[in-house]
Amino acid sequence: MSVLSKPYFHDETAAVAKLEEIIWPEGPTCPHCGAVDRIYDLKGNSTRIGLKKCGHCRKQFTVKVGTVFESSHVPLHKWFQAAYLLCSSKKGISAHQLHRVLEVTYKTAWFMAHRLREAMTLMPILAENIAKETTVNTDEAGQYVHLGRHFNGHGVVRHGIGEYGRGETHTNTIEGYFSIFKRGMKGVYQHCAKKHLHRYVAEFNFRYNERDASDGERSAIALAGIVGKRLMYRDSSGA
Ligand SMILES: [Zn+2]
Repeated sequence: MSVLSKPYFHDETAAVAKLEEIIWPEGPTCPHCGAVDRIYDLKGNSTRIGLKKCGHCRKQFTVKVGTVFESSHVPLHKWFQAAYLLCSSKKGISAHQLHRVLEVTYKTAWFMAHRLREAMTLMPILAENIAKETTVNTDEAGQYVHLGRHFNGHGVVRHGIGEYGRGETHTNTIEGYFSIFKRGMKGVYQHCAKKHLHRYVAEFNFRYNERDASDGERSAIALAGIVGKRLMYRDSSGA
């Protein structure tokens, strides 16, 4: 026996069961309406593996809905192999090597490696930049599945089914902010070095947070901030 002899590396039913275990540790959740009870397994020879039906909204789904695996033609057990190879080799693994080992096209291997990389890198970045006490609202992208474990709470809006908000759970504010930020960076500043990015973000944050103030008031608040900073600089330098 070796790690690689585990059934979910070779068998699609085992792979789907494994993904269910990872994504739904407390049992299945309907991706359409959010229900956690009255969810039934659909069985039959022509039925897709892991297909379920929600007794509330009557819609069908599998654990792949809302994840990168949903639209992928690559069987899930090969995704598990790819993830294992990518995570277990110290120096990483090239798309060429994945293509040879998994017996998928180079293009597919490249796509898989990138999607897996995204899933691996996102969490550390979020953990580093978001306070633990935060309730984070996101769309339904698969990379966010376990966000609730790392922060105070995790609200999800399912854009895929035309949902844009449920009470305080929505991403409208951040999307509005982002569109201003991106237009500003592209239109006015053109580009910026990574090491300066936080300053530009601070500038856009400031304008956004003070958006109810008049231009004059906003300038006054900004200047007050500069004065405060200068004092702090003097204090710290002993001048
Ligand atoms: Zn449902």
